[in-house]
Amino acid sequence: MNKVFNQLNHSCPSCEGGVVTTRLIDDDFQYGEGAAAVMLHVTLPLRECKNCELQYFDEEAEEIRHDAVCKHLKILTPREITAIRQRYALSKTDFSSLIKVGRISLSRWESGALLQNSSSDNLLYLMGFTENMDRLKKRQAEILEPAKTERKPARKFKLNEEQLSLAAIHSNNFSLFVNCQ
Ligand SMILES: [Zn+2]
Repeated sequence: MNKVFNQLNHSCPSCEGGVVTTRLIDDDFQYGEGAAAVMLHVTLPLRECKNCELQYFDEEAEEIRHDAVCKHLKILTPREITAIRQRYALSKTDFSSLIKVGRISLSRWESGALLQNSSSDNLLYLMGFTENMDRLKKRQAEILEPAKTERKPARKFKLNEEQLSLAAIHSNNFSLFVNCQ
């Protein structure tokens, strides 16, 4: 495992004063139910307080378990998703608006609160390639500013007096009225 465990700056959640050390332990946990259930193997940082002897797992262990599930499902991990977004120096709001996913969903994927489905995962994966980001930005720019195509000059109608007076009264329906003649 390439993960570098953070061994610094832990304070005991119980006594808050003790020196907390980290010991790595192997752990297996079940993911899924019934026939789809699998056992996933992880190495977790177990914190131990020298003062009150409390042993506990913190959010780092949660991240490691979550990453193991993502690896098993072959989807991007929360940190991989964050890294893709940060590659373009985009905020969550800007990135989610660009790729048309919900801001809250993106936030949950990045925090590990929610696993992205496979189509969203494919989208995120593809956004990891700068050429795809360039294509998408180009496409969206074209949507916002459609290429200025030459417009045909408006047809000119020669109206008689009756049509002119009707047009003045029914100006909203003017073009409809003319086209019906
Ligand atoms: Zn303690």
